[in-house]
Amino acid sequence: MGLKARILVGYGIAFTFMGMVIGWAVVNLVSLGKATDAVLRENYWSILAAENMVGELERQDSGTLLALLGDSPRGMAQFHASEGVFLQWLARAKDNVTIPGEGDLVQTIETAYEHYRMQGTASAQGGLAGDPSAEPALTLYRESIYPAFAQVKEGCVRLRDLNEQAMYAASVRANRVARRAIWSTITVSGGALVLALLFSLLLAERIARPLQRFVEACRQISRGDFAVAVPVKTRDELGRLAGELNQMASQLARYHAMNIEVILSEKTKSEAILSSIEDGLVILDTDLEVTGINPAARRMLSLESAVATDLRCTDLPLGSDLCGLIAETVSTGEPPSLPDERRIITLSEDERARHYFFSVTPIRSRERALDGIVLLLKDVTRLREVERLKSEFVTAASHELRTPLTSIAMSIGLLREHAAERFSERDATLLQAAEEEVDRMKVLVNDLLELSRIEEGRIDLEFESVPVSGLFQHVEAVFRAQVLEKGITLNVHFPEEPLRIRADFTKITWVLTNLVSNGLRYVDRDGLIEISAHRVASAVHISVRDDGPGIPLEYQTRIFQKFVQVAGREAGGSGLGLAICKEIVRAHGGTIWVESSPGRGSTFTFAVPMVQ
Ligand code: ADP
Repeated sequence: MGLKARILVGYGIAFTFMGMVIGWAVVNLVSLGKATDAVLRENYWSILAAENMVGELERQDSGTLLALLGDSPRGMAQFHASEGVFLQWLARAKDNVTIPGEGDLVQTIETAYEHYRMQGTASAQGGLAGDPSAEPALTLYRESIYPAFAQVKEGCVRLRDLNEQAMYAASVRANRVARRAIWSTITVSGGALVLALLFSLLLAERIARPLQRFVEACRQISRGDFAVAVPVKTRDELGRLAGELNQMASQLARYHAMNIEVILSEKTKSEAILSSIEDGLVILDTDLEVTGINPAARRMLSLESAVATDLRCTDLPLGSDLCGLIAETVSTGEPPSLPDERRIITLSEDERARHYFFSVTPIRSRERALDGIVLLLKDVTRLREVERLKSEFVTAASHELRTPLTSIAMSIGLLREHAAERFSERDATLLQAAEEEVDRMKVLVNDLLELSRIEEGRIDLEFESVPVSGLFQHVEAVFRAQVLEKGITLNVHFPEEPLRIRADFTKITWVLTNLVSNGLRYVDRDGLIEISAHRVASAVHISVRDDGPGIPLEYQTRIFQKFVQVAGREAGGSGLGLAICKEIVRAHGGTIWVESSPGRGSTFTFAVPMVQ
């Protein structure tokens, strides 16, 4: 039977019980009504008839007396009027014979009344025709009329008493029926209620029990256990649901297995990729515990024999700075912003120092929550070695070039001084060009030497507390003549508060001068250069802004590298100025950058620590 049919049957049975109770109550009410009706029908009308007969009889009696006493017309009229009514009530009583003995009694009354009527009529008529004196009439009344009257009256009274007794008995009976009806209705309703309750409980239990199995099965599935088999016992909706659920569970199990296969194959692929790359990769969770490490990183960190699990960042030979940086990345969720030169760590491998360029990248889940950190280590030892050799070569070459350049410059100078008159004008122009080129080469060689000295860490900085305003005054004085000559406006914004920086005055002046001289080189006549300084946290930002041609985006980071110049805008420079600036600023513990939009000028800014 279907679930719907079961519920309908359940309701049907409850309604049947209710119907039975109602039916029972109706039967009781009907039998109660019948009992009352019987009382009315059987007794009330007979009592009424008896009482009315007595009344009419008494009126007839007084009519008889009236006639006997002389007023015959009125007496007879009264006699006959009451006679008609009496006979009507007698007929009623005859029609309503319902209790044993009543019929005989009515018959007796009828016979007695017939006798009385004859006596009464005869006597009254006799009274009319006979002696007018009262005495004989009264004697006649006493001897023949009254006994007949008394007999009829007695019959009527007995009829009334008989019916009154029967009425009392009927009312007792009706009472009994009512009591029985009340109790039986209570009993039947109570029984029906109990049965309906039991049946409802049974039905609810039969529907709910299988549902409990479904709940358990769903829980099992949500725990990831797909081996669910809800028994299909019935063919109703629940049975069909059980079948569908079992099928769904086996489908889920299939998908799950497929997913696991896909995941496993992806994992194997990723592991193969990680193992094959030469860069070191360390994966850390947000508690800074190592959750993955590739063979290259194991080799770099001398962890070949160690078990990767239970390793914390601090257990790796990365140094506290790098671990601090990783912890900071975990707390901010952003990759650290460090200049490339500070992204190098040195580790020893087989007692030889090796240099690694590192990057720290946060891993985010699909909900953008931080899942962990990837530390990438790129071996730059060879690159550094090449750089070092290159730098050594440049230093050596520059050094070697400096002496011949000095003698060439001296020779050209002497030639121009002492033998000028022997040269033609064309020769003199050539000689001047040679002298200018030699000067340019001397600048280049000096720049190269300076740069390689700084790069090799051979820069001696004499730190002092330098007032920014003093620095600005100096630079303003240096460029005063050139600015006037080129028709350029140089606006120096002296800081409003007395700012001091921790710097080597000569070197930092070199940086600022270089930036201003670049500006002078690239702005047009009537151009504008502005120098300003302001405090940002514990550093001072010094900016040189110009309204020159600006720097294309792709050059904005590269121009701080050696020999990089914006194509077509070489302007006779060596491409080393900004590289030297960067090294000097870095040696001061600061950074330098440019903000520019091509065609709208550039702003070079360097940050150096402030003296508190
Ligand atoms: P250079 O000796 O060539 O000026 P720098 O290192 O000082 O060498 O500058 C590198 C390049 O950056 C320059 O060749 C030039 O193309 C560009 N540059 C530097 N400063 C400016 C500036 N203020 N406006 C436009 N371009 C600039």
